[in-house]
Amino acid sequence: MDARLEAIRDTVLARNPGEAEFHQAVTEVFESLGPVHDRHPEFLEGAVLERLCEPERQIIFRVPWTDDAGRVQINRGFRVEFNSALGPYKGGLRFHPSVYLGIVKFLGFEQIFKNALTGMPIGGGKGGSDFDPRGRSDAEIMRFCQSFMTELYRHIGEYTDVPAGDIGVGGREIGYLFGQYKRITNRYESGVLTGKGISWGGSLVRPEATGFGTVIFTEEMLKTRGASFDGRRVVVSGSGNVAINAIAKAQSLGATVVACSDSSGYVVDEAGIDVGLLRQIKEVERGRLKDYAVRGTHVAYVEGGSVWDVDAAVALPCATQNELGGDAAARLVRNGLLAVGEGANMPSTREAVAVFQDAGVLFGPGKAANAGGVATSALEMQQNASRDSWSFEHTEQRLTEIMVGIHDRCAATADEYGAPGNYVAGANIAGFVKVADAMLAQGLI
Ligand code: GLU
Repeated sequence: MDARLEAIRDTVLARNPGEAEFHQAVTEVFESLGPVHDRHPEFLEGAVLERLCEPERQIIFRVPWTDDAGRVQINRGFRVEFNSALGPYKGGLRFHPSVYLGIVKFLGFEQIFKNALTGMPIGGGKGGSDFDPRGRSDAEIMRFCQSFMTELYRHIGEYTDVPAGDIGVGGREIGYLFGQYKRITNRYESGVLTGKGISWGGSLVRPEATGFGTVIFTEEMLKTRGASFDGRRVVVSGSGNVAINAIAKAQSLGATVVACSDSSGYVVDEAGIDVGLLRQIKEVERGRLKDYAVRGTHVAYVEGGSVWDVDAAVALPCATQNELGGDAAARLVRNGLLAVGEGANMPSTREAVAVFQDAGVLFGPGKAANAGGVATSALEMQQNASRDSWSFEHTEQRLTEIMVGIHDRCAATADEYGAPGNYVAGANIAGFVKVADAMLAQGLI
C-alpha cells in the first residue's frame, strides 16, 4: 500500500477499534488508490480519505418488543449515514444476530462506492439490527419492525435517507416498516423505502435485481475472454433472494447450477437446481435447504462442509461476508475455475481475492457485481418520484444497461490506471474518484 495512504489507514483503524470487517473493507479500498493520489494531489490536500472514512452520522438505538410468549426482548438498532455527496443515503437494513457496528460500517462504506458506480444519484448508508428473525412468527416480525421504525422514522426520508432490504429483510419486513412509517408521519411517502410490494409503490425486477445483475456483470467479464455462461457448470453459495435469482438467471443463459447452500449445509443437483422447488421451500415455506434434498430427485445433501468443494467454471458467492477463504479459493482454482462474481458483500477474504487474481481468474468484486439491487432501488425511487410504474421488460432493460455500464467503467478505469483486467482496482478507483470530486466541489463538509 502507498505509504501516504497507509498512514491514513492506520489512523482509521486506531480510531475504530474492534471493527474487523470495517478495517478489511477500508484496507482493500486503500490498496487500490495509490495511483489516484499520484494524479490528484487535491484529494490528499482536501483530506478526502480521512473524511470518507468518518461517517457523516451514526445512529444506535434500543429496539424493545414483546415476543409471542409476552416476554420483553431488547435488540440494538443501527443506521450509519455514511456519505451523501452524490445523493440521499441509500442502502439496506440487515437483521441478523452477527450485526454490530463494525458490520454496518463495512457495509455502509462499500455502499458509497457501489452506489457511485451505478451512476444513479444515491449516497451511501446501511443499517440493521442484531435481531434474529429465524424461527420468529409473522406477528413477532411485525412487532419488531414496528418498534425499529418507531425510532428510525425520524432519521429517514425521500430526500434524506432511503433504506431497503439486505439479509433478513425482504418484502414482508419492508411492508411492516413502511406501514409504521406512514402511521407515525401521516405521509404516504413512497420514496422513503425501496423494495416495496408491487401494488403499493414497488418496482418490478427489484426482487430479482441483485442476483440477475450479478450474472449480467459476470457474463460481461466472461465475454472479455470469448466465453459465456452457456454450457458452464456453476456453483452458487447461499439460497436466499440473491442466490435464487442468480441461479435462475445463470440457468436462463444456458448454465447448469449444480450446487447451492445455507448455513447448515449444501445440496448438489447435477441436473441443475430446480428453481421452482427452491423458491417454494425458501420463499413460500421459509424452510431449510435440507428439505430440497428430501423433495428433489437425485439430490445429494452435505451437512456442514463447504460448497466450494464442488468444482465449477463459475463461482457466485451469494451468502455473506468472508464465506470464501484462501483454501477454498485455491481448491476452486485447482478445479478449473474461470470466473467469480460476488453477489454478496465482501464474501471473499483478502487471501481468496489474492489467490483468484494470481491465478488469472476473472474476479468481479461485490461493489460492482452486486450493484444491480441498489441500482434497481434507484429505479424504484425514480418511478415513485414520477408516480409511474414501468413494465418488467423496460426495467430489466435498464438494469442490464446499468450492469454493462458498470462493467465497462470498471474495465476502462483499470486500463487507465495500468491494471488491465483488475476489476477490484477499477471499481474502487472509479467509485472513489466520483465521490471525491463531488466532496471537494461541495466544500468542507
Ligand atoms: N442491500 C442491498 C445492497 O447491498 C441493496 C440496498 C438497496 O437497495 O438500497 O446493495
